[in-house]
Amino acid sequence: MEKITMKTPLVEMDGDEMTRILWKMIKDELLLPFIELKTEYYDLGLKNRNDTDDRVTVDSAEAAAKYGVAVKCATITPNAARVKEYDLKKMWKSPNGTIRSILNGTVFRTPIIVKGIEPCVRNWKQPITIARHAYGDVYSNSELRVEGRAKAELLVTKEDGGEERILIHEFDNRGGVLQGIHNLTSSIEDFARSCFEYALDQKKDLWFGAKDTISKIYDHHFKDVFNEVYEKEYKKKFEEAGIEYFYSLIDDIVARIMKSKGGMIWACKNYDGDVMSDMISSAFGSLAMMTSVLVSPAGVYEYEAAHGTVQRHYYKYLKGEETSTNSVATIFAWTGALKKRGELDGIPELVRFAGKLEQSVIETIESGYMTKDLTLITTMEETVTLNSLDFIKAVRKTLENYL
Ligand code: NAP
Ligand code: MG
Repeated sequence: MEKITMKTPLVEMDGDEMTRILWKMIKDELLLPFIELKTEYYDLGLKNRNDTDDRVTVDSAEAAAKYGVAVKCATITPNAARVKEYDLKKMWKSPNGTIRSILNGTVFRTPIIVKGIEPCVRNWKQPITIARHAYGDVYSNSELRVEGRAKAELLVTKEDGGEERILIHEFDNRGGVLQGIHNLTSSIEDFARSCFEYALDQKKDLWFGAKDTISKIYDHHFKDVFNEVYEKEYKKKFEEAGIEYFYSLIDDIVARIMKSKGGMIWACKNYDGDVMSDMISSAFGSLAMMTSVLVSPAGVYEYEAAHGTVQRHYYKYLKGEETSTNSVATIFAWTGALKKRGELDGIPELVRFAGKLEQSVIETIESGYMTKDLTLITTMEETVTLNSLDFIKAVRKTLENYL
């Protein structure tokens, strides 16, 4: 078979620890033999981030904005222990946070469904994608403890010096607690656009819930902004694509999701998304089977696995011990990016190849060959547990039968 050629490069962001090991195996076994892979490579491994004063992270995000599609390996977010371990100049910020703030994107997480790894909720037959608004609300709050009798007010001082003031509460002698939160119209608009863009990209319905009946100004603003962006910019496109935008109260959305077959994109306010994404990922079985894509309102796509660098397995690997680390979400990050690149550049062979690779991963697992994390949770009776490399090789074998 002739290798598939590419036009525009993919932005490749390499990473850390066990996922960096998997990254190379995936390229060597599943991509390079079949594709004349064209990437612009950025090494986001912690050592290089430290050597470049984290410039490499910023450069990689700017390249993503330029080319439109990126694929990222999991990276270490330094904490005190990592500063010591890698002898860092400082505690560099989370690369994902840096990239997200440059691209101004929203993260969409979707479980990969295979037969034999069943979701806890029996009626969920299709994946549920969660989108979390990553700005404001309780995550950038100001809070106070009130000791004893006090009157708390909300005060806004305008640019022209004018003031607006409303009473929050008059505390009794026992006092209490108090918090101020905010959000921005521009940020909610960008979030809405990323959600509508991704729904069109995936041809899936978009659901959004907030508590507008109780929070008649704050949450109602989210509802209004979504509605306005939808009516002005997306209604026609949604109708043409045959998909739906559905708003309801957050409690109603939660109740309906539980009874649904799945298959929708669920846009969540910041706190709801924090909580619900953990519920969805654990209910679908495994963090190692969860993909993640950052979508900017301008339509830039950055694909990755939702899990981290799997540090514990890496230390075993370094000691020469055998590992059985699941590469599925990282493979799907590559296929997502290759598909998107193929669509944008008009290379149908590339789109088809990515689809076949995904199919091969699913078929390999469904025929009983999987890594240890899946053997532990599968309902299949006869399984073969493979090590990290052998699983990837088994996928290659399935793939070769397809091509
Ligand atoms: P983690 O890497 O997601 O791993 C936590 C545990 O989950 C593992 O020890 C393993 O359990 C299991 N696991 C996760 N992915 C797996 C896979 N692909 N195959 C098999 N098992 C898997 O989280 P962490 O250990 O908390 O974080 C490690 C590093 O990753 C941290 O430095 C953190 O900053 C970073 N991180 C990066 C990202 C990102 O770049 N997107 C996201 C999260 C965390 P067992 O040990 O029981 O086998
Ligand atoms: Mg959470």
